Amino acid sequence: MSIDALKDILQRHWGFKDFLPLQDEAAQSVLEGRDSVVVLPTGGGKSLCFQAPSMVMEGLAVVVSPLISLMKDQVDSLKESGVTAGCVNSSMSAAERRAVHELIIARKLKLLYVAPERLLADRFIDYLKRARVSFFAVDEAHCISSWGHDFRPEYRGLSALKKEFPKTAVHAYTATATEQVRADIAAQLKLSDPVFHVGSFDRPNLMYRMVRRTDEIGQVCEVLERHRNESGIIYCIRRKDVDFLAERLVEKGYSVRPYHAGLPDEERKRNQEAFINEDAEIIVATIAFGMGIDKSNVRFVIHAAMPKSLEHYQQESGRAGRDGLEAECVLLFSYEDYRMWEYIIEKSETVAREASIKKLGEIHAFCEGAECRHKAISRYFGQELERANCAACDICLKFLKEVDDPLILAQKILSCVIRLKENFGAHYTAQVLRGSRDKKILNRRHDELSTYGLLSEFDIRTVRGWIEQLISQGCLQRSGEYKTLSLTDEGRQVIRGRETPHLLEPVKKKERKRIRSGFDLDSWEGVDRDLFERLRELRLKISKDKGVPPYVVFSDASLRDIARRKPVTREGFLTVHGVGQTKSAQYGEAFMGIVREVCG
Ligand code: ADP
Repeated sequence: MSIDALKDILQRHWGFKDFLPLQDEAAQSVLEGRDSVVVLPTGGGKSLCFQAPSMVMEGLAVVVSPLISLMKDQVDSLKESGVTAGCVNSSMSAAERRAVHELIIARKLKLLYVAPERLLADRFIDYLKRARVSFFAVDEAHCISSWGHDFRPEYRGLSALKKEFPKTAVHAYTATATEQVRADIAAQLKLSDPVFHVGSFDRPNLMYRMVRRTDEIGQVCEVLERHRNESGIIYCIRRKDVDFLAERLVEKGYSVRPYHAGLPDEERKRNQEAFINEDAEIIVATIAFGMGIDKSNVRFVIHAAMPKSLEHYQQESGRAGRDGLEAECVLLFSYEDYRMWEYIIEKSETVAREASIKKLGEIHAFCEGAECRHKAISRYFGQELERANCAACDICLKFLKEVDDPLILAQKILSCVIRLKENFGAHYTAQVLRGSRDKKILNRRHDELSTYGLLSEFDIRTVRGWIEQLISQGCLQRSGEYKTLSLTDEGRQVIRGRETPHLLEPVKKKERKRIRSGFDLDSWEGVDRDLFERLRELRLKISKDKGVPPYVVFSDASLRDIARRKPVTREGFLTVHGVGQTKSAQYGEAFMGIVREVCG
């Protein structure tokens, strides 16, 4: 079976003209029956790597998937594309299960989704042995590794697959990038001589911005205003932060639902569904939210506080823009977040405490850092990005700029730390540098220091920011219960003028490029926005009638393409991105009706 035949399937069922990077190689391994581990970022198109080959292979492909909600979505999407797929899980009625069983007996089903615990039940294994399995695809395969961020004990049992089905290939799919987890997946699944397909972790369609948090609600609303009528996720660290922020946003009239593990099951489920079905635009959540969310048109992810590692950040921000269209990821951070995580880690973790603190330090340095965000994230995952300017992060778009004389500025700050006998914290030091008349400062006669008021023309946030930058570049360190600042060897080199650190300051709003300019021109190019909105309404109506999420009917990318090409014939409709035979037959007339009405 050749890749060309697969391309035909791709066009006919999914309406895509070509494979995304590595999809063809990964699909080839499936066709060849060679065990494989496929690592592609969220939105990289992992599902098609096994879905497309299953269509041309004899027998039934069994997909292991961790969550029932995820299964249902995938099966609904496949059916929309004219693929016979089904699932078995505990939420189904006996009649629904029987229907799937009959399709299997009749050898009509191509893809079967199951949860690991069901797959491993004795009777089910025997059942599958009779059903002629073409291959196993293990989705979210990092759940098998205790090194990963989402270990699920029920995945461990999957190591029995190779014993029970020694001749059947097993393919593992994950977006988790660390080498250790990758090797662990292969070992745990007992894969035999697997081929590794590892894609680029960069997500060029995501615009990253790291912003010091000064006014949480105001800063969050600023982002929301850029995304009126669009879906997005806001992550907070604690449940009470979720409740607080969600309430404030509701008061301001936004369409918001909260989500965290402290809410009753029913309510949590309702809120998640409201978000998926676009009855609510925004979800405010702890990290409990996200796994199992396949919603492809999330246009922004805001972190109201810093996550605890770059792995977490990549996962959570990665939920934006799965459809490949541009999406914005804004992280609001403060040193308080670092302290809070440190406290949580010290209280709750024993085994991996040191490693967790290290990861925390790394993400903090990333937030404070001055390197292209796309490059920094890729490097963290062991890949170098060649692109000189990503045009999609605060650094490359110059929202921050290097101060005029970083050496002199750093020396002023470091000398102040020395004059304070390395006995005070960042906030106090910043106040002294700004020449504050605070009583504590006057009582200690720190207003008589030569460094007092040296930076009086800057606001406290900016000065604090520079101190944080000096810490993240290793010139200063914090220690002891009171987190007092002291110089490192590196800092002493700076005092002597032998090293110059990078110090950034925010560019005034008037001076910077507008955030949307340049970034999203391509995907909106030629799109009739009024028509797009009308198509969106129709999509929502159809999704409600059918009881499937809107993005299962059509992705945003498809809707924009209709609003660009404005097709009025069946042939024309088939050229739209993401429109295959089945969808064209089902929805073509309805959507073309709107095109005719608006443009005719
Ligand atoms: P992942 O599981 O890796 O996050 P998905 O399988 O959910 O990714 O695919 C992400 C998005 O990319 C989906 O909206 C899917 O329809 C789209 N997609 C997948 N393959 C292609 C392709 N070859 N061409 C265009 N879009 C694709």
